[in-house]
Amino acid sequence: MVVAYQAPKEQHKIENPYQVALAQYDRAARHLNFEDSIKEYLKYPQREFTVNFPVRRDNGQVEMFTGYRVHHSTVLGPSKGGLRYSLAVDLDEVRALAMWMTWKCALVGLPYGGAKGGVVVDPKTLTTAELERLTRRYASELIPLISPHSDIPAPDMGTTPQVMAWIMDTYSMTVGYSVPAVVTGKPLNIGGSQGRNEATGRGVIIIMEEALQQLNMYPANTIRVAVQGFGNVGSAAALHAHSLGYPIVAISDVTGGVYNAKGLDVERLYAYAQETGGVRGFPDGDYITNEELITCDCDVLIPAAMEGQLNERNAAHIRAKLIVEGANGPTTPDADDILNDRGIHLVPDILANAGGVVVSYFEWVQDLQSFFWDVDEVYRQLERIMRKSYYATEGTAEKHNVDLRTAAQLTAIQRVADAVKTRGFYP
Ligand code: GLU
Repeated sequence: MVVAYQAPKEQHKIENPYQVALAQYDRAARHLNFEDSIKEYLKYPQREFTVNFPVRRDNGQVEMFTGYRVHHSTVLGPSKGGLRYSLAVDLDEVRALAMWMTWKCALVGLPYGGAKGGVVVDPKTLTTAELERLTRRYASELIPLISPHSDIPAPDMGTTPQVMAWIMDTYSMTVGYSVPAVVTGKPLNIGGSQGRNEATGRGVIIIMEEALQQLNMYPANTIRVAVQGFGNVGSAAALHAHSLGYPIVAISDVTGGVYNAKGLDVERLYAYAQETGGVRGFPDGDYITNEELITCDCDVLIPAAMEGQLNERNAAHIRAKLIVEGANGPTTPDADDILNDRGIHLVPDILANAGGVVVSYFEWVQDLQSFFWDVDEVYRQLERIMRKSYYATEGTAEKHNVDLRTAAQLTAIQRVADAVKTRGFYP
């Protein structure tokens, strides 16, 4: 049963991701003039799926796992969104992430609704064979829900192109023929797209550069960047920014962080983290915690890890002038208020990290047409969509005199609401 949404009486200490997503929705929808029935309809996930399933460990023992898939909306097209393997996964987190996917796809103009899924598991505790069995069993449980025309999963925290390959294979074996377009973020040799792996991080940096230009912050070699998270998004963002000449002064991951006022050698740090399992102990910098990274001395902060990292406890101490959200939901509504009051420019997740799903869309289109693009074409189209979306959102923020998050959300909500209105309520 879905619990009916009630507007929070006070806006303080909302840190459950679904409550955060609903509070953001409420703030944005206030600026829009549309029917209450549509306003209410869009708060609810369309369908929610929970599955408990057994996985045999290598030692022969069978363990139970829990997974979810939530379709928030299919108004604009098939639902789209990643699959997360993490111990922090629960239904409210998946609901929030699914809702954010709806807004993200609508904001950047993709013909998709929003979804998200996850399994409550720390993938690092499984062997490769166990991970494959877990993925294939979960995928087979998802078969009634997914297809190239209904719902298309992709990687997210804790999942990889290899995990996508197992899902694609499980689905294909079940229906009896190969269906590459059922997932995106696949390896290149089975229908993946050039540029998909780096797409989210690259998109974050495209957006960062637009915002820096608008704020008259230049040249690149004077802009100190701090990145929280060194997974797919954080590492691609840090490596790309580094290659463009920005000093990356701080990077962290689950093992801790490293700070170097002169700038880190990001390529060396990446190799070090690959080898040792994390950034902790990197010799060429000082140890800092994840919490210290948020408030470290820098010009641009890129939170690219978990939800709720920028909150009412640290927002007043953040020293960056620009925040570009690589993660989904890294900032609580309390922190938004504090950062807005302080005049800190924040580019929200559904805009800043949309590069991943944009290139997922390119991958899906290429798979459906069996016609593949080169990497230059992928990057050219990615840049075009990211820049256009940034300017459109800036324009909306000015027009409504609101912050960029509210502007991004209200643009997206308006698009979905208009489509609901045109389609009408069934029956
Ligand atoms: N997991 C990514 C996101 O949060 C990508 C989703 C996708 O490509 O479908 O945007």
